[in-house]
Amino acid sequence: MTFHAVVVAAGSGSRAGGPKQWRMLAGKPVVRWSVEALLEAGAEAIALVIPAGGEAQAEKALAGLPRWFAVPGGSERAQSVRNGLEALAGRSPGRAPERVLVHDAARPFLSRKVVDDLVGALETAEAALPVLPIADTLKRAKDGTVTATVPRDDLYRAQTPQAFRYKALVEAHAAWDGGEALTDDALAIERAGGRVILTPGDPRLMKLTYPEDFEMAEAVAGQMRELRVGQGLDAHRFGPGDGVWLCGVQIAHDQTLIGHSDADAGLHALTDAILGAIGEGDIGDHFPPTDPKWKGASSDQFLKHAVELVRARGGRVANVDVTLVCERPKIKPHREAMRLRLSEILELPLDAVSVKATTLEKMGFTGREEGLAAQAIAMVELPRA
Ligand code: MG
Repeated sequence: MTFHAVVVAAGSGSRAGGPKQWRMLAGKPVVRWSVEALLEAGAEAIALVIPAGGEAQAEKALAGLPRWFAVPGGSERAQSVRNGLEALAGRSPGRAPERVLVHDAARPFLSRKVVDDLVGALETAEAALPVLPIADTLKRAKDGTVTATVPRDDLYRAQTPQAFRYKALVEAHAAWDGGEALTDDALAIERAGGRVILTPGDPRLMKLTYPEDFEMAEAVAGQMRELRVGQGLDAHRFGPGDGVWLCGVQIAHDQTLIGHSDADAGLHALTDAILGAIGEGDIGDHFPPTDPKWKGASSDQFLKHAVELVRARGGRVANVDVTLVCERPKIKPHREAMRLRLSEILELPLDAVSVKATTLEKMGFTGREEGLAAQAIAMVELPRA
């Protein structure tokens, strides 16, 4: 079942000591965690509600992600949500969204299960929200003295995202009289007499409120993702020609590299490293050298394919390191161009891409300049099942 989403990232973060939605958390901006999770769960479109002047930060935080757009926030949360709901409808005139999830960017660790449970619950109710039971005993107190113990059997902690039939939520917001603070969107449905049902929450779906919450969140982030590593090795023979392709860059040389494709050993080793990290065999399994389709092919498409396979699992390549082994051509003058090209193909920041070169002191086949070898290692981050 498809759904749309509104992600509220409009806060100024007064309690967290600055806007927390753009802050880095385990290697990526806080808001990116939620948007990636919603996209991976199948969101058709995401309205990201941002503070005034936050466009550049949003673009930077969500670089490379599809199906989202920024919407200016309102003076209070309820208005921000309304802006997001309207913008979603405006994006697909004549075809209003059927289901919408409203989420706070300050809850980064959104699992697929939470989303699936919520969307499924809309089959039988106008609204659903994830909740956690309360383990602690609850006390009421005045001036530091207990006045009562509150029964907790029927009390729950409400989380976001909350899920709604789109029409019901728009109508409930429109009917809201503003008499009390609309602390969450389910409340609007409750007041309108709609049925709101509970789905299982997730302790990891914690809300980042205070600066010290980030420390806990860094630890949780480690549990949400697993790191994989893969390595690749490739070699190609020199033959008559006037240049070679290495790491996606063409270099003038008094020979060329022989191969079925463009013989870019750097890209081949790196492709194998990424495939290795996700247990997807090797480059020959995906692009058989017997297939005429790949004759003379530009090897960047092999690497892009491996990256796509990682993304299809909801993962990302974290960093790569390539070592080229040859006496000639000299790699150093081209190293930065190679890093730049790899960072483009992989959509990684430059400091996550390394290209190094070495000779083997004139020993072996690279030493005799019969051929050139490349070795690569790739770190991949996958969601933990
Ligand atoms: Mg090769």
